[in-house]
Amino acid sequence: MSRQFDVVVIGAGPAGYVAAIRAAQHGLSVACIDEWTNKDGKNAFGGTCLNAGCIPSKALLESSELFHRAQHEFKKHGITTGEVGMDITAMQKRRAGIVRQLTAGIAGLLKANKIEGLVGHGKLLAGKKVEFTPVNGDVETIDAGHVILATGSVPIELPVARYDGDKIVDSWDALEFTAVPKRMGVIGAGVIGLEIGSVWARLGAQVTVIEAMDDFLFMADRDVARTAAKEFKKQGLDIRLGAKVTGTELVKQGVSVTYEDKEGTQSLEVDQLVVAVGRRPFTDSLLAEDSGIQLDDRGFIVVDDECRTRVKGVFAIGDCVRGPMLAHKGSEEGVMAANLIAGEISEVNYDVVPSVIYTAPEIAWVGKTEQQVKESGRAYKTGSFPFAASGRAKVMEQTSGMVKVIAAVDDDEILGVHIVGPMAGELIAEAVLAMEFSASTEDLQRTIHAHPSLAEAIHEAALAVDKRALNYIN
Ligand code: FAD
Ligand code: NAD
Repeated sequence: MSRQFDVVVIGAGPAGYVAAIRAAQHGLSVACIDEWTNKDGKNAFGGTCLNAGCIPSKALLESSELFHRAQHEFKKHGITTGEVGMDITAMQKRRAGIVRQLTAGIAGLLKANKIEGLVGHGKLLAGKKVEFTPVNGDVETIDAGHVILATGSVPIELPVARYDGDKIVDSWDALEFTAVPKRMGVIGAGVIGLEIGSVWARLGAQVTVIEAMDDFLFMADRDVARTAAKEFKKQGLDIRLGAKVTGTELVKQGVSVTYEDKEGTQSLEVDQLVVAVGRRPFTDSLLAEDSGIQLDDRGFIVVDDECRTRVKGVFAIGDCVRGPMLAHKGSEEGVMAANLIAGEISEVNYDVVPSVIYTAPEIAWVGKTEQQVKESGRAYKTGSFPFAASGRAKVMEQTSGMVKVIAAVDDDEILGVHIVGPMAGELIAEAVLAMEFSASTEDLQRTIHAHPSLAEAIHEAALAVDKRALNYIN
């Protein structure tokens, strides 16, 4: 007789494992299938985020930032050291150790919640059945009350720059380099391009980023993008905009890259080339022909606002469905899907999904950019506060950047908060909470912020919306 579960989740990334845990918290019987294999051949739960994305990238961003600051900032604090050295093997060992601990933690969480963690491939058949092909053992068909598809995404490959795993690589390979490339090229000045470019630039690589769009960080508020572009330039990141890669060739020393910009055909030679031009939903070998699941023209599983697919009882969440490819967005969809399966009312507020880019300075925002508000036709007001006027930023030696608050003229509702500066990724949480509660700038203005703290910059920017900033000339 085939095994039966109330819920079968395919994929144990931040969308899938969170959905599984929430379903188990509702008292449902749950299986979670995942096939992720790390470069050492070992399987691990946690998906892209824990194994090859959010966590390893932030581990290296932290190490490389400390190295950079030790070299360039310690003197200002009156701290002298000998020559600051770098042990890339130790750095990578730390990164791998953190990944191992956290992915083992997911396995522990599944077990503690009595979730059956199944290592292998899952395939959705018709009639809410799932075919499970274990890494070791025989294929079985599992009966599911509900199925949640959470199979994530994979890097897009460019026909003109095919991965070879050595000189032309994706973001995962670039997080596992064992030596600092002398000259590194990155195609795509998106989130991955900037984060990975920053890591290796801080560790000594000469980094050139080739970006097809004319506008830098086109998805961010223009004021933030301009400030960030200036900072990255100061740091030595060579970002070439309006540049379309037309070809690559493996040469003795590395890769020769040809691209077109408004001046014509250009070429660049690098030791290693990272392709970071976006990710695509991953549904390979996931769906039986008669599964009934529909994909859109970009390969995303079609779902409604509640992440229901066209097949009753089958949900899809995370990177394999529409919306930003962010771990926290996928996790919230996982919670929603599990709640709905358990018969609760649940929703995701897609208007307040924060975005963070973990460069130095960090970039973070929530809500609409000024351009989007302008296009919406709603009358608005803005207030900004520079970190140069923040006491806390000053003592941290991190005064670049600013906070910008955008609010509606009619009812003072906060429409967007944009930060470029120290700890922006942490600071944005206050703005997310404020917007989740439909707060006005007056609510932020009346809220006491500890002194001296970076969060005071949010307070001051909210005050500046009404020309009432206290520590800056309005
Ligand atoms: P995934 O994490 O991709 O997990 C899907 C899982 O399903 C995988 O384990 C896969 O092996 C498994 N799977 C797929 N098909 C099957 C199948 N048929 N059977 C069994 N298993 C299957 N996001 C952030 O929010 N913050 C960050 O700082 C951040 N940094 C990133 C850095 C990098 C370098 C990258 C690449 C991504 C980063 N992201 C970040 C994006 C984040 O990793 C994704 O948004 C997130 O992992 C998506 O979660 P998911 O659960 O939908 O999919
Ligand atoms: P992205 O969409 O952020 O950026 C891709 C960039 O490549 C864009 O600027 C695009 O214009 C450019 N591009 C596309 N084709 C090109 C070409 N042929 N030549 C030159 N440039 C080209 O994608 P990404 O950086 O690969 O990241 C993928 C996903 O992972 C993103 O959706 C992101 O949300 C997620 N992610 C998030 C974080 C974070 O939250 N901190 C970190 C890393 C990745």
